[in-house]
Amino acid sequence: MKLIKFTNKGIYCPQGKFYIDPWRPVDLAVITHGHADHARWGMKKYLCHHFTKPILYKRISEDIECQSVEYGEVINMNGVKVSFHPAGHIIGSAQIRLEYKGYVSVVSGDYKVQDDGLSTPFELVKCNEFVTESTFGLPIYNWLEVDDLNKRLQNWVLRNKENQKTSVFIGYSLGKAQRIMKAVEGIGKIHVHYSIGKLNEAFETVGIKLPEYEIPDFRESVKHVQDEIVIVPPALMDSNVIKKSPMQR
Ligand SMILES: [Zn+2]
Repeated sequence: MKLIKFTNKGIYCPQGKFYIDPWRPVDLAVITHGHADHARWGMKKYLCHHFTKPILYKRISEDIECQSVEYGEVINMNGVKVSFHPAGHIIGSAQIRLEYKGYVSVVSGDYKVQDDGLSTPFELVKCNEFVTESTFGLPIYNWLEVDDLNKRLQNWVLRNKENQKTSVFIGYSLGKAQRIMKAVEGIGKIHVHYSIGKLNEAFETVGIKLPEYEIPDFRESVKHVQDEIVIVPPALMDSNVIKKSPMQR
């Protein structure tokens, strides 16, 4: 049995008549998570996890038709049982489990098996067929344990502080930025770029507690963030704001 078909609009389930993370406009899109290469504009209807919904509203539009569900909740779509299971990638990220006539397929979306303390930890889902994404799954990629990595970041921030330097992190506004915030929580004042703040608000609306932060006006002076922590998205890497700042990155 095949529950998954690869089409020019994206991954399609013919029995359920819906797409998973389609890249062209379709009637019904099941969305694994809020990253722009998975959640696109133009779908008639979106189905996602509760935590992803405010992200779609912020990033796509407040006017989209969007239904959201809890992890493990089963929705019947034209006879296919569909449920979302934690993928551990970013907040709200899910693997999509499809069950039809006793046959189970799981589409992973992006996933991470390490617990980052922010995303709901990855859950192993038994299935007959597993469709996996694997951007960084090659053996050449070796990641530190989360605690070791966080320790490194913290030591770096503390060292910069001693030298009166600002610690500037470049991180994608959805996912990485919040992980960095969590990693350096409690060791310095955190300032984030507006675009990161906007997504932080989306998390807060669904009850996710993030470390405290401020959104400074980077067009003005960056002096007031000296010795402290600044997180900006990659687009700002070469901006004047960053270049003018006495800092380490
Ligand atoms: Zn992603």
